[in-house]
Amino acid sequence: MTRFPVYGHIEGPVVLIGYGSVGRGTLPLIERHFTFDRGRLTIVEPSTLRADEITARGYRHAAVALTPENHREVLAGLLEPGSGFCVNLSVDTSSLDLMRACREMGVPYIDTVVEPWAGYYFGTEDNAARTNYALRQMVRDEKAANPGGSAAVSCCGANPGMVSWLVKEALLTLARDLGRTVPAPVDRAGWAGLMCGLGVKGLHIAERDTQVRAAPRPLGTFVNTWSVEGFIAEGFQPAELGWGTFEPWFPPNAHRHATGCRAGIWLEQPGADTRVNTWCPTPGPQFGFLVTHNEAISIANYYTVGDPAAPGYRPTCHYAYHPCDDAVLSLHEMFGSNSIQQRHHILDVDEIASGIDELGVLLYGHAKNALWYGSRLSNDAARRLAPDQNATALQVSSAVLAGMVWALENPGAGIVETDEMDHARCLEVQRPYLGPVEAHYTDWTPLSDRQSQFPEEVVAEEPWAFRNVLAG
Ligand code: NAD
Repeated sequence: MTRFPVYGHIEGPVVLIGYGSVGRGTLPLIERHFTFDRGRLTIVEPSTLRADEITARGYRHAAVALTPENHREVLAGLLEPGSGFCVNLSVDTSSLDLMRACREMGVPYIDTVVEPWAGYYFGTEDNAARTNYALRQMVRDEKAANPGGSAAVSCCGANPGMVSWLVKEALLTLARDLGRTVPAPVDRAGWAGLMCGLGVKGLHIAERDTQVRAAPRPLGTFVNTWSVEGFIAEGFQPAELGWGTFEPWFPPNAHRHATGCRAGIWLEQPGADTRVNTWCPTPGPQFGFLVTHNEAISIANYYTVGDPAAPGYRPTCHYAYHPCDDAVLSLHEMFGSNSIQQRHHILDVDEIASGIDELGVLLYGHAKNALWYGSRLSNDAARRLAPDQNATALQVSSAVLAGMVWALENPGAGIVETDEMDHARCLEVQRPYLGPVEAHYTDWTPLSDRQSQFPEEVVAEEPWAFRNVLAG
């Protein structure tokens, strides 16, 4: 990329909430791809660690932590009704409350996760209430109660986010490769019918992060390539997945939900301590962690055919995440010691010696067995493409950029998830930042080369059954 396309003008104040790894990465993309009044951009960030950096860049710094009590007043003081943009890239803030406040003012809004206020993840005793299903359903209920209105893009990062656009490209790729070239569907029912018609039983959001630094991880430090706080919080939520109609076995410690979209189930165990068998192009077969994510539910919901409570078709869908090696060791240490490390460290683009973040969707169970489709972005490429971020952050920040462009082009869209957006337009904006975006077919299934020295319950007649995906 030598010249950067400008996608639009943002009239009015811009508020960026959170100046962490993703916020710092998103700001240069906003600068590149939009025109706006720089004197009217405010960064709401309670930490003063980077206060000098913020002011040196010419922006205003509101060094305040948003809370249930103050967020309306703070936002009303910074935003202007009917204009501007609010970009929420923080932890410990309620996405729903911030989205509501923005929509009441008619200000476009975007976030990358349905985040609750501080204390919710660890202070809520009811495990069902701690699921992403419950958090997402609140946003869906808000959409149903207040349809239309100013655009608010929910969960528009890499995953959740970009992966929903990749699912659609993967479906069109699979259709073509099966000799069933079809026009891109134009609505939800069309997409669900396509996935069902192609025989896709389910999908993993299959990710392998190989980014490493030269120095070994110090004992007692949680190291990750993105928010440590965010990863620990979601890692301690119950493992959770969209539950497909083909599944022949139901996990004994699983629960369904009695209300809402009915697309997901949750397990009585933490996601970051739940291993699944999965596949990515670089390692081939690997373990991933079944960490709960919004897209596991939203994708299963979006591609449901028939009555949500008794569907004719629904894919199984879940995250299968192999984070960077230092994060795997950090999790091992955290669960083994029964305590969360006091020291947290996010790997900076310049300290990473090598590696890529390989993030895609693995569509399985069809006539060609399995198709992985995704971004294989290296840290070196990320460094060349955009400032201040590693490969992981760039996959997220470029999705935020695409979501902002879409929101400006669809100002009256109301609350949307990325499944409901124009995937082709969004990927057109995002693709220059994704490194190679590739399709890989594999013959591998969760029963391939399965060790058999010890007794294990498997479903031999259905290789892709969740029973087989779940590792011992
Ligand atoms: P980070 O921990 O690096 O930064 C979060 C920032 O939020 C910090 O600077 C922190 O000071 C700030 N913050 C904390 N409490 C706040 C409050 N009350 N009010 C305002 N700001 C507050 O995290 P990150 O890696 O930049 O991630 C940011 C968000 O993006 C997280 O919610 C994370 O889960 C999400 N995320 C989504 C994806 C995706 O693909 N969808 C990927 C990575 C991160």
